[in-house]
Amino acid sequence: MGSGMTMIPQSQDRSALEQEQFLKILSREEAMARFEAALFPRAIPSETRKLADTLGAALAEDVTAPIDVPPFDRSNVDGFAVRSADLAAAGEGAPVRLALNGETIHCGTAPRMQVATGTATPIATGGPLPRGADAVVMVEHTQPAGPDGIDVRRAASPGQFVSYAGSDIARGEALLRAGTTIGSREIGMLAACGIAEVAVARKPRVAVISTGDELVQPGEMLAPAEIYDTNGAIVAAAIDENGGAAIFLGAIPDDEAKLEAAMRRALADADMLVLSGGTSKGAGDLSHRIIGRLGQPGIVAHGVALKPGKPLCLAVCDGKPVVILPGFPTSAMFTFHDMIVPVLRRMAGLPPRSDAKVSATVPVRIASELGRTEFVMVSLVEGRDGMIAYPSGKGSGAITSFAQADGFLRIDALADQMPAGTEAEVTLFTPHVRVPDLVIVGSHCTGLDLVTAQLAHAGLTVRSIAVGSLGGLAAAKRGECDLAPIHLFDDRTETYNTPYLVEGLELVPGWRRMQGIVFRKGDKRFEGLGAKDAVAAALTDPACIMVNRNQGAGTRILIDRLLAGARPEGYWNQPRSHNAVAAAVAQHRADWGMTIAPVADAVGLGFIPLAEEHYDFALVTARKQRPAVQAFLDALGSNEARAALERAGFRPA
Ligand code: AMP
Ligand code: MG
Repeated sequence: MGSGMTMIPQSQDRSALEQEQFLKILSREEAMARFEAALFPRAIPSETRKLADTLGAALAEDVTAPIDVPPFDRSNVDGFAVRSADLAAAGEGAPVRLALNGETIHCGTAPRMQVATGTATPIATGGPLPRGADAVVMVEHTQPAGPDGIDVRRAASPGQFVSYAGSDIARGEALLRAGTTIGSREIGMLAACGIAEVAVARKPRVAVISTGDELVQPGEMLAPAEIYDTNGAIVAAAIDENGGAAIFLGAIPDDEAKLEAAMRRALADADMLVLSGGTSKGAGDLSHRIIGRLGQPGIVAHGVALKPGKPLCLAVCDGKPVVILPGFPTSAMFTFHDMIVPVLRRMAGLPPRSDAKVSATVPVRIASELGRTEFVMVSLVEGRDGMIAYPSGKGSGAITSFAQADGFLRIDALADQMPAGTEAEVTLFTPHVRVPDLVIVGSHCTGLDLVTAQLAHAGLTVRSIAVGSLGGLAAAKRGECDLAPIHLFDDRTETYNTPYLVEGLELVPGWRRMQGIVFRKGDKRFEGLGAKDAVAAALTDPACIMVNRNQGAGTRILIDRLLAGARPEGYWNQPRSHNAVAAAVAQHRADWGMTIAPVADAVGLGFIPLAEEHYDFALVTARKQRPAVQAFLDALGSNEARAALERAGFRPA
């Protein structure tokens, strides 16, 4: 596709200048303001629903109590309806005798007789107070006096044990306000007033379309270069979570005519349309072009200073919001929760989400790009005083980072960083986050899952956050985790881990894992050699490409030692995990690298052992007695876990 100017269709009646402004990147705030200005104020369509069908809906109008609740003066206890003045002189030593009237007032019985001076009428809890009575005495505070009388040994104040008419809800009082989300409590209040149906905001019908030739629906087979449509499912669910009724229309290929037809069909039927993908301004990115033909005013923002999420496109077509979310699922979710949910909830007559925001402290400095509002995925853990939000999973393509993330925080466009210790507002992906029972922060190992599996089966939630050994130690020192898995070699003492412990931390031995060189089986350059010779041979072959590891990884220290200053082809390819190294070699992007034996075995690679590494746990002593920590220690020592570790190629300590 050519420049911005050549993109403008001649038939468009808007001037080129006007069109140009939509190619300008807007700030998040400006984009939001334009979107809201084009949509609001607007009437919220409502519908009348039976009480039982209103759960979770937003009340469309104020409800005024049509009756008093209770509707009559009512007894709160089982006892006798009396005139309090009769009992003014009653006491332990001076019982007052009252004559019983000839009726008993049960629930649902309307009294017929008056309580005259010197008399009492038996009354049950919930029974209506008879004329003449102004108080109730409890049956426990009376004694029978013959068949037709009682002795009362206590005085009664006027109104004692009586609920007056309207004392709970008064007729004409505002019972519930418009916009209230209806829960069981609200349903109870309406039922108490005899209201059988109420007007609630009609759920906005939101059509969801995924776009892209590469998309396949879950349940179908993937062909080469195809991926599963993630956004369709996740966006539809998030719409339902926020008061909308999602209508998922599937994935449409990058074909202008097909996409336009689908968008027109969607808008004919729905109140709102959410697409994803196809917003980068490359070939095949069509949806934003089509929007211009669907209604006025059309696109109000295309390109927002967000990271990730820059290609977000916001439009309004004849009163209906049309949104194109970025294709990457995480970018789609950030922008959806941050900018689309508020609009959707407003259309649904719901208040802004309050159950989906928490305040948490950021334990580390987060660098950020100046000029763009940055979204950072975070995992929440319980700190010494309040919640801690760990940044996780940077990079907009990582759907897996959702698994460990509870939500995200936002760094202002004008900030180039968020300093450590900042109290930030976290938007939760799902309301009511459950803080994990056990928090493990440090180096990741596939063996860890084999131990924590037992905890999960026992109903304990475990959060493990991979930040490397040194990051884990720092978190443990700050008391932000229970355990920090580490594998740190100390050159001076030639031992692992122990020299790195400080006051307040103790070592729990974990397991040993063999580090070594991986290569494709049958590669003559490596087969049969020792690690040192294999690397030496690789260095003499200029066609041989390595895959390295990231700075700070324990494995990287071993590689750099072996290379002794050499920088062979592939050195700057520095993935962050054992698995990525194995994948690079298995898929021929590299010929050798260093990883751990179980990972090499799992992919069927050749392996030359180099050194056995100690993967242990720094335990925060102050947290040792926590039940989840004890459960972890039990699991670690169990025969079951030890056997599983051995089967996977680890050697339990
Ligand atoms: P696009 O904006 O269409 O260029 O998409 C950007 C990236 O997001 C590409 O890698 C797409 O394959 C990916 N993507 C787009 N739509 C989806 C979807 N519905 N589910 C998963 N990934 C998607
Ligand atoms: Mg696409």
